[in-house]
Amino acid sequence: MQIGGEWTEAAGGAWVQVTNPATGERIDHVPAGDRRDVDAAVTAAESAFPGWERRSYGERGMVLGRCARLLRERIPALAPVLTREQGKPLAEATGELMGLAHVLEHYHSIAGSVSGEYRNLRLYGSAMVTHTPLGVVGAIIPWNMPALLMGWKVGPALVAGNTMVLKPATSTPLTTLALAGLFEEAGLPPGVLNVVTGSGHAAGEPLVLHPTVKKVSFTGQVETGRRIAELAARDFTRTTLELGGCDPMIVCDDADIGTAVAGAVRGRFFNCGQVCTAVKRLYVFESIAEHFETQLAARVAGLRVGNGMDHGVDMGPLNNAEQHRAITALVDGVQERGEGTVVVGGAVLEGEEFARGNFYAPTLVTEVAAESPLLREEVFGPVLPVVRVENLDDAIAQANASRYGLGASIWTHDIRRITTACEQLQAGIVWVNQHLRIPPEVPFGGTKESGIGRENGYGSIDDYSNIKSILIAPGKAR
Ligand code: NAD
Repeated sequence: MQIGGEWTEAAGGAWVQVTNPATGERIDHVPAGDRRDVDAAVTAAESAFPGWERRSYGERGMVLGRCARLLRERIPALAPVLTREQGKPLAEATGELMGLAHVLEHYHSIAGSVSGEYRNLRLYGSAMVTHTPLGVVGAIIPWNMPALLMGWKVGPALVAGNTMVLKPATSTPLTTLALAGLFEEAGLPPGVLNVVTGSGHAAGEPLVLHPTVKKVSFTGQVETGRRIAELAARDFTRTTLELGGCDPMIVCDDADIGTAVAGAVRGRFFNCGQVCTAVKRLYVFESIAEHFETQLAARVAGLRVGNGMDHGVDMGPLNNAEQHRAITALVDGVQERGEGTVVVGGAVLEGEEFARGNFYAPTLVTEVAAESPLLREEVFGPVLPVVRVENLDDAIAQANASRYGLGASIWTHDIRRITTACEQLQAGIVWVNQHLRIPPEVPFGGTKESGIGRENGYGSIDDYSNIKSILIAPGKAR
């Protein structure tokens, strides 16, 4: 753990093993933090708060800018750390770290242009709105994109003047710890950003319940989000909850098929399907379905699976054994149960190179039945279910028939269809002729069970601020 600028062991002396999901090898171990470690981290963050709060937005942003520069230099050394603990191919790990650098640069640049608000409201007097930091904030991140999601939370929280305690997932703490060291090297004062490693129950819950913690930003599963919301409600601790998704992709009959096939493959199999906004359901117009599915099957079958450290690998293993079991259980027997036709994959990969890792074959299932869990649940792995639809109304109705509402995409060049889809799709983000890309410039978050609140966008600094309106009575003529 890194608490108050010092690297420490857990108070209880226990450790969590970190395993390479491609080889099953134990690559490192980190302290299994608990309530006492959370207390120490919160105390360090509380002590660092007055000094950090006193700095201007611009000065705080400068630290993020320096960190982004250092990070860009260190990506070749950090990407293998991410690949070894998470499983993603080196190219994807490099891309994620470049994404983090871009996020930090974004917050650096907007920190320099934060301005005050003042209006003379005449009858009511002069109005001023002040924004001050909340104090100590907590961030809890999952294992699928540990670096990028760290940036989405750390960027706005630090620019706003807060100090932080961050808890990474048990399977991917190493990149987070390395990045925390980088922030320190970039000049972040000790205690401003602290990391407590350990399980959700032992370290995450005490962080949410800590009376000094004013906000918790959480990214993870719906059920964990529900638990965190319940715990946070006890002290009215603010929360941002970025939860799961079951994103639909709609391919219309006028879509550019080659582009849509490439988009579906990237949208579903990037990061081994472990992305909240991955394409998790594909709805294709009946009239082009056969041609589209044939092209898609060929591309899915051609994906090269292997150890993310090896050159030319398109897809690595699933991150952990639990995930591997969950995906296997969902797909096993799909055909026998009449839920769909497995066209590609549908099994654990066999062979010497796959024997000790959490590998699963890229899988394509067509003719999927409406009630299949493949369409109802968030399938966090490399399985793409395809459904044929009659027209756009049918596609939108099926797309919206979900408890999730994170992302959605429409693939067409027809402006009427684009307008209809953008208006009617129930999602926090709608893409047109693309899927998956999330720049820090736009707000990101879900509707329905996909979460509460937004990250990114220009309002995100306000989400980490106390906002106070001050009204000064109008002057009177003497
Ligand atoms: P998870 O909910 O199991 O764990 C996420 C984090 O919460 C981990 O650090 C974990 O240790 C911690 N945690 C677990 N139980 C806790 C508790 N009771 N109290 C406090 N902390 C607790 O999620 P995961 O399996 O690591 O990640 C995958 C999920 O994350 C998927 O559902 C995915 O869709 C979602 N996700 C959402 C977004 C988004 O922005 N909406 C982005 C990425 C991932």
